[in-house]
Amino acid sequence: MSEPRDNADRPLRLLGFWGPSENRTLPNPVDLVDPVWDEAERLWVADYLDHGQVAASWMGSSRCRLCTRLNGSRDLTDGYYLWPEGLAHYVLDHGVRLPAEFIDHIEQRSQALENLERDASWWQLNAART
Ligand SMILES: [Zn+2]
Repeated sequence: MSEPRDNADRPLRLLGFWGPSENRTLPNPVDLVDPVWDEAERLWVADYLDHGQVAASWMGSSRCRLCTRLNGSRDLTDGYYLWPEGLAHYVLDHGVRLPAEFIDHIEQRSQALENLERDASWWQLNAART
């Protein structure tokens, strides 16, 4: 099942943004830690997060809310979701579990890319013209 491609007007879904403890409109990563989350799945999710396209760069780095290390200054996207580049660290090093709907999204995107038809004709035609 691939997601619709003709929905360019839809907003990007924010993922992995945290609120201060006094403002609970955004989640706190402490509440999402799953110490028994399978390591292979965490590696797979973190790898996907690390390979988003840069959507924005900010002046200062954010700090990890759980260990205070410097944790990136850019926002990344896959065209559907937008997350801070440090989100992979939360997943990998702290076991911060992301919603199942996002895990399904990664699976669907990976499957859809593997299943795409491949066509060399454009490359054959245009490579010699540069
Ligand atoms: Zn950390």
